[in-house]
Formats: sequence, C-alpha cells, structure tokens
Amino acid sequence: MKREEAQSRIAHLIDEIKKHDRLYYVEARPIIGDRDYDLLEKELVSLEKAYPELVRADSPTQRVSGEPISAFAAVRHDPPMQSLDKTHSKSELEDFDRFIRKEVSGFTYVVEPKVDGVSLSLRYENRLLARAATRGNALVGDAVTNHIRTIKSVPLSLPEDAPETLEVRGEVYMTRDGFVKLNERAEEEGLEPFANPRNACAGSLKQLDPKVVASRPLDIVIYNAGGIGCDGFNSHSEMVAAFKRWGFPIAPWFKSASTMSEVFDAIDELQRLRHSFRFEIDGAVIKIDERKFHDVLGATAHGPRWARAYKYAPERAETIVEAITVQVGRTGILTPVAELKPIELAGSVISRATLHNADQIARQDVRVLDHVYIVKAGDVIPAIESVITEKRTGEEKVFEMPSVCPVCGGEIVKNEGEVALRCANPACGAKLKRRIEHFASRNALDIKCLGEKVADTIVEMKLAEDILDLFTMNELMVIGYFGKNGEKLLDALDEAKKLPLHRWLFAIGIPGVGETIAKEIAAKHETFFDLVDSSVLKEDKRVVAKAIIDFFASDYGQKFVSTMKALDLNPKSEAKSEIKTSGPLVGMGCVITGTLSRPRGEYAKLIELAGGVIQSSVTSKTKYLIAGANVGESKTSKARALGTTVIGEAELMEMLK
Ligand code: AMP
Ligand code: ZN
Repeated sequence: MKREEAQSRIAHLIDEIKKHDRLYYVEARPIIGDRDYDLLEKELVSLEKAYPELVRADSPTQRVSGEPISAFAAVRHDPPMQSLDKTHSKSELEDFDRFIRKEVSGFTYVVEPKVDGVSLSLRYENRLLARAATRGNALVGDAVTNHIRTIKSVPLSLPEDAPETLEVRGEVYMTRDGFVKLNERAEEEGLEPFANPRNACAGSLKQLDPKVVASRPLDIVIYNAGGIGCDGFNSHSEMVAAFKRWGFPIAPWFKSASTMSEVFDAIDELQRLRHSFRFEIDGAVIKIDERKFHDVLGATAHGPRWARAYKYAPERAETIVEAITVQVGRTGILTPVAELKPIELAGSVISRATLHNADQIARQDVRVLDHVYIVKAGDVIPAIESVITEKRTGEEKVFEMPSVCPVCGGEIVKNEGEVALRCANPACGAKLKRRIEHFASRNALDIKCLGEKVADTIVEMKLAEDILDLFTMNELMVIGYFGKNGEKLLDALDEAKKLPLHRWLFAIGIPGVGETIAKEIAAKHETFFDLVDSSVLKEDKRVVAKAIIDFFASDYGQKFVSTMKALDLNPKSEAKSEIKTSGPLVGMGCVITGTLSRPRGEYAKLIELAGGVIQSSVTSKTKYLIAGANVGESKTSKARALGTTVIGEAELMEMLK
C-alpha cells in the first residue's frame, strides 16, 4: 500500500471506529459486533505500525499511549471552576426562587441530576482534545489528559460544526456496577476496597499509569460551559443539546420547569429514578435556562447565583452492631463482618455489612454493641458509614482479629502489599466450601442445587476433599444426605462436564481470572489440555497470564490436571468449537488484504459463515489470500510461494454463493 493510500485508509478507519465508539458508548446502540470492531482496530494498529509518521493525535489507538507521568501539570482555570451553593430542603429552594424573582423575570428552570463524581474541564484546540483537568482548588487543577483519553466516550476530536477552540465542563464518574466489580476484585486480591464510586474515581485519576486508568470503568457527563467556545446559545438546554451533537455524553435525564411546583415534581421524580442511573447522584441541580440571566445574576465567590444544588438526604439508617464475625473466603482471606440488628434501608432489609479488614475497623473504631449509621456504597453494598459515639455506654467491646483461622485453626499470613490476612492452610475447610460454591455458581458450572448450604454439608461430611472430588462422590451418600436434590445434583454434575472451556477456567477460581479474562483466554485455546501447556500464555505478559501458568505449575495444579485426565475431562473452547463444519470454505485459512468495495469486517463475517478461518497474515496454513485493490506484487508473490491461492473480490463472492 502506498503512503497516500495508507493515509486515506487510516482516516477511514478512524472515522469508522469513532462512529462505532459513539454508537456503543454514547448512544448505547451498537450496530456491529465485537469481532468486527476488533478487525477495524487491528487494521488501524497495523497500518500505524507500518507508517508511524501517519499516527494521528486523535487516533483511537492513542487512548492508552500516554507514558506514566511523574507528576501532574498545573492547569489554570479561566473562569474558575466554581462549586454550587447547596440547599437541603424545599423551603431553602423557595428562598432561592424568591431571590431570583426579585432580580429577574420571564425565565424557566432546568433540573438536572447532580452527578457524584469528580469535576472535569475539557479543552479542545483545532477541534482536538488538548487538555483535561480536574477542579483542584477551583483556580488551578491537575492536568489529567492521558487519563481522560482512556475513557472511550470522551471525543478525541470534534465535528466540523463545533467551535475550533472549545472548553466544556462536566463530571467524570465511575459506573456503579463497575465500582462493585472493582471492589470485588480488590477484596479478592487482598487490597483495600474503595468506600464509594466517587472515591474510586478520584483514586483512579491519581494513578500514574494511564494503562491502569484504562482498566477502570470511568465515564463522563458534560453539563456546563467552559471559558471558550460556548457563547452564542440562548439557553443552557440549547447548549447541552449542542454538546450532544458534538459527541459529548450528556445526562440521560433532565426536565424543564417554569414554576416551583414543577421544580419539586422534577426533583421528586429524579429521586425516584436515582438508583436507575449508571452513576451515583447526590441530588439535583436547578439552573435558570436562559443564559442572558446568568450574566445579570453573576456569581458569588462560591458559585453561580443562577443555579442551586438540592441535596437529597443521605439514605442511611441507624442500627446496632450485635457481633463481629470473621468469614474465610475462597482464597483464604479473612473478612470481618458486622452482624447488625436488621434494619430497612433503600428498599431492602440489611443484617450484615462487611468491615473489609482490620485496618478499616481500626480507622472507624467500630466496636461490638456500637450504634452505627449504615449506607449503601455504590447504592448496593451495605457499609458502616460512621459510629455514633455519643451513644456509647461503655459496654462496647473492641474487636480483635483472630490469631489463627477461625475455621481450621490454620496459620494466618499477611502477604506483602496486601491489607488482608489469609488462612495459609491449603486444606482449610472454609476455603474449600467457598471454592465449591464458586465452582457451582451461575457463571461457572451453574449447578443450581449446589449452593452455600449444600457446599457446607459436602465439606463437613467429607463427601469431597477437593473440587474435582465432586465428580466421584459416593452416590448413595449424596442421595442419603440430600434426597431428591442429591439426584439432581448428580445429574447436574454430569451435565457440567460438557460445558465449554471458559466456564471451567472461571470455575477453577485462579486469582484474577474473572469471567471476561476466562473467555478471552479460552478463545485462544482449543481444549483444557491445550491451555495447560500453552505457548500463547507464555507470550502474554499480563499478571493474570502468569497466574494461570503458575497455577498449572504448582503441586496443586499438577494434581488438578492429572485428576482431570483420570476423569477423562477435557472441556473444549467454545470459540474454537464454534467453527463451522460445513460450507464452501470449511477449515480454510483466509487473509484479506488491500482495498475492497465493502468493509473488511463484512467479508470476514461472510467467510466465517462459509466455514473459513480469518487469519491476520499469510502463513503456510493460508488457503486463500483475498486481494483487493492496490496490493503490492511482493505480497502476492510471497503468498504464492507459500502455496496460497491469490483471489480477487469477485472470485471470493463466486465461492461464497
Ligand atoms: P459539591 O461537590 O457537593 O460542592 O457540588 C458542586 C459540584 O457538583 C460541582 O462542582 C460539579 O462538579 C458537580 N455537579 C454534578 N452535577 C452537576 C450538574 N448537573 N451541574 C453542575 N454541577 C454539577
Ligand atoms: Zn482456614
């Protein structure tokens, strides 16, 4: 491919990827599948590798290209990034309305969610993202451009109708379900969890390595003008509509209101909806829509006079810590749990709250019999917000972590860099119970009749001493202990043997191997034994790949593998076994190159439907090289030398008929 061709192909790919990013991340209505998206990305990466001088600043490949930073550059905000004055009751809001009506008339309000994240300012120069900054002290913030680039919904460039230089402001947040997953992972790895999505978001922005940031589930909403490029709109709502047209994510909900009673209705509606958003909200923001009044009203040192925050009363409940117990998890981590006097909070009854670890207990100074406030972190995880020390009577008891495993009496260790304590006994019954439970869980082997209680009994009655023993349990005993459910259990275990590799890989419970990783890694292998002795993993430099290799190399892993062999179990990879067994191109390797009249992804899909296997470069296993326009002679002659047949688009279509 010539340089000019590469350049125009790169431009085309960038446009396509941007379009699909927008459809996926901003509009939530993707029109192509992951695989086609990956093909676009792969092609772009390889072109950029071949022509490094053609790498564009707004290329999606540049989202994670930033090098780790040693410090954050200071960014001066002009005008300052102000806060908002707050109200906590409807009568305070009525005072605000009275004040406004004395000053101006003939306006409407808009009510927006008050997103609970970290304020952010984005600056575009020549319609390219030039800088992202946090609020800092309102006058000077930190440049976090490389961090923010990793967020896929942040446009790296703006369309032609956007101003050349533009500054907009909004909020970066961590999604609620992303937060829950991140904390689960932290807990599993013995690390300190985050208190709430906002802290997790702020913590992510302080990371020095953009690659770590890229792995965090962050997103943004834009809701305010910055210092430049936002003039020329009569109203705030028109401006926000323009933000949306220019490709910025905006809040999924907002209401216009002309009277206070409409404002209150909107606030109430928002409060009912608050748990349905991807972000946490801590209130509503009421703004005057007409921008001419913004100038008239001006601002105080703290915030604009034309807007107010209305904070919802925190959803918290008071109860008593009746006891503190210690749970032993699947990887041996000891987690202290507050056993609470049951209390209702935000729609559910809560009787337990994790205390995470001994450090956390010490920090909050939670004692047995303390009165405490309970909140839901990320709207879901019950947590102790604070101790009501005024209610102490002197009867409260300071809790101490046990010095040996409370279940097996095994030794307790603390790994370097971790806050968690772990039971070091590999044969610990508590660990085994939770490993069996995980093994049988829905996204693992989905053995419905094997929940917490049955897992406990299996271990206590010594029906199994390891997870694979489940397949050789004494049937009479199983039926004896569990009756009808026992019969179901035996059948379900038989069924589980047929499940694909990624389910098994997840079920084994190797630290760090979640569902997504399990799927990705399983797709690169054919079978379980293929994975055990994998060269793909050795080349994979990620920690998780090493964890899998280490697992299979360990004494336990070796024993696990030989038991799999003895049981004649060798789960197959779904991605690989999905390969079609009929069609004109069954099993034939195909490489697409050059410019075709239709997107490559489309051809790739057709080839796969015909049973073909798409390869990224020609090897001795390649049957056909599908050459579009502008393919160099050297490429085709090399293909011929390897025994590959070179065909054109028309011939391909003929074969696919
Ligand atoms: P606070 O952080 O409680 O002082 O509240 C002020 C902050 O709320 C602002 O600095 C913004 O970062 C944030 N905020 C969240 N949503 C909005 C919104 N829709 N409009 C304006 N500010 C918002
Ligand atoms: Zn133990």
